[in-house]
Amino acid sequence: MSELRRDLVKNNWVSVAEHRALKPNDFPIAKKALESSVMGAFCPFCEGNEQFTPPEIAAYREDSEPNTKGWLVRAIPNKFSAFELEGELEETCLGVFSRYNGLGKHEVIIEAPEHDIDFHQLSVERMEIILKIMRDRYNDLACDKRIKYIQIYKNRGIFAGASLEHSHSQIVALPLVPAENQGMIDYYKEKHHCLLCDILAQEMSDERLVAESEAFILLCPYAPRFPYETWIIPKNHKEHFGGISAAEIQDLAKIIKKFSNVMIESLADPSYNLVINTAPVNVDYQPGYHWYIELTPRLLVNAAVEIASGIYINPVAPELAAAMLREKMLTAK
Ligand SMILES: [Zn+2]
Ligand SMILES: [Zn+2]
Repeated sequence: MSELRRDLVKNNWVSVAEHRALKPNDFPIAKKALESSVMGAFCPFCEGNEQFTPPEIAAYREDSEPNTKGWLVRAIPNKFSAFELEGELEETCLGVFSRYNGLGKHEVIIEAPEHDIDFHQLSVERMEIILKIMRDRYNDLACDKRIKYIQIYKNRGIFAGASLEHSHSQIVALPLVPAENQGMIDYYKEKHHCLLCDILAQEMSDERLVAESEAFILLCPYAPRFPYETWIIPKNHKEHFGGISAAEIQDLAKIIKKFSNVMIESLADPSYNLVINTAPVNVDYQPGYHWYIELTPRLLVNAAVEIASGIYINPVAPELAAAMLREKMLTAK
């Protein structure tokens, strides 16, 4: 279990392990070096190893029993969850400090039964299934009134924080709302318009546009933190990812498939994060949210300036990044 501690200096929350400390060799980068020295390391996510994961919450399977072979995508509780959905949220104050118990949920979506297939190599049909399970888990977790924010994300590769090679994504359901997208709320308060809708209107004909599909726009944001950072924004104004339609899922699967291939091929097989930003649930939140996906290749390691000032140093102009990615998207299959 973990607890949520407020960092009063940075005005942010940190999930801290309770009574537990990983050893230096347990961390992903060191672990990777260890794993590669052990041939055929055991993988609990592979088909046939279902008994080594907690029982599944949802799965896409045709004729087989739960927790047996014969699936395409499985959602399971994270065995090393930082959170537990039991009891109520409790705040404890310790002098100037405050902390919350780790109320919440942490799930894993295993994206394929095969170990050696990477996310970008999956078919469009399989990507569609993954997105459907993500949407269903989102809507199911949102039914618990104690959950206030649902974060869906994917870490691909060692520099993006992945600790297991087998293709997977994760869902964290939190008891509080992170302040990450506050800019959208502030913009709405001032202009009474949705910030992302205004950005879409401006960027449609702009040099930062990467691609367009029926329902989505891909663009390099005006002030990207990471080189080749790209956002996928639904054209229809919708606050919640959970409200994505079946047609939008079909369209999104196609564009993610194409773009993830382009990213892997044109950026020398990078580690990357995929993050779904969405509105909070079960709270009276301020208007201004518009859900979207961030794709951040991890070509650089964050340095002291980023840590100290929060100002990211990006050596790639988004206009040039977009020109390169746009060209590749035009010629990609
Ligand atoms: Zn595996
Ligand atoms: Zn909007």
